[in-house]
Amino acid sequence: MKIQDILTKTRTISFEFFPPREATGINAVLNKIESLQSYSPNFISVTYGAGGSTRKFSEELTTKAKTQYDVEVMAHLTCVGHTVKELDEILERLEASDIENIIALRGDLPNHQRINLTDDSGFEYASDLISHLNRIYSFGIGAACYPEGHPEAVSFEHDIRYAKLKVENGADFLITQLFYDNDDFFRFVDKARAIGINVPIIPGVLPVLSSNQIRKFTRLCGARIPPDLEMQLAKYENDDEGARAMGVEYATCQVQGLWDSGVSGIHFYVLNRSYSVSKILDNLRLERSLL
Ligand SMILES: Cc1cc2nc3c(=O)[nH]c(=O)nc-3n(C[C@H](O)[C@H](O)[C@H](O)COP(=O)(O)OP(=O)(O)OC[C@H]3O[C@@H](n4cnc5c(N)ncnc54)[C@H](O)[C@@H]3O)c2cc1C
Repeated sequence: MKIQDILTKTRTISFEFFPPREATGINAVLNKIESLQSYSPNFISVTYGAGGSTRKFSEELTTKAKTQYDVEVMAHLTCVGHTVKELDEILERLEASDIENIIALRGDLPNHQRINLTDDSGFEYASDLISHLNRIYSFGIGAACYPEGHPEAVSFEHDIRYAKLKVENGADFLITQLFYDNDDFFRFVDKARAIGINVPIIPGVLPVLSSNQIRKFTRLCGARIPPDLEMQLAKYENDDEGARAMGVEYATCQVQGLWDSGVSGIHFYVLNRSYSVSKILDNLRLERSLL
């Protein structure tokens, strides 16, 4: 089923996993996926290692998850470092494995290497990959967006216009980068609607797992740590268990706040650690029925 059709449900949740570095790790990730099946995700997704080392396991995990569990699986695909021919080969295999949805991304080369397009063989931006998908294939198409702007963007205004270009080129829905202040998300959605982005925008939520981890992630993706969260992180600087418990409470409030404001879909960055997400959903289930 296409994700844009799934998103017509009143409330959806989705979980994102990443592939292992070795083939022997596939079963461990499948076990994590299985451990969250009781929360009835509306879809799950499997990331694609733009850097290269885990690429082949993305496809294997995506197709195995789709075959083994009764859940829609969205494949992430990055165009950086791939020729169009290579992308087509992957897309044809995904199509043959009944994968119906792709989130089309640019990706990042390791160590900020420059993208070399001198031989004209690849795509420079996610919007180019989206045009290609839209022209040739029948996948449901997702794309990334950035409530606080992409770190390389010339400006927030440029970045949101490129998000619009992705939609104009065929993206059916957008999923946001992580953020920790819901107001940043609401402001982004207001601006997106004002410039004519009318597709669903799903907030991406990453529960804090440790103070170090969240500082590193936010630095890399250019997201802000709001003062109230910064105070909490400082308390649990060398206490990962405490930070994780605080992260569950923080994300529970964040998701509740999004729901209360009428947001219907939530995408959890699970990072292959099911504990926090299951605790958050247990907390929320105490408040009201999930679906
Ligand atoms: C929901 C989500 C899932 C992700 N999954 C993965 C994954 O599986 N694997 C992975 O490696 N990474 C993943 N990422 C990270 C993503 O690859 C990086 O954020 C990457 O730096 C940008 O990808 P993009 O698709 O947003 O790129 P683009 O949309 O191409 O944007 C990249 C930069 O170029 C600018 N830009 C865009 N179009 C143009 C244009 N036409 N002209 C000039 N400038 C332009 C933008 O403002 C931005 O600064 C994910 C991110 C999100 C939010």
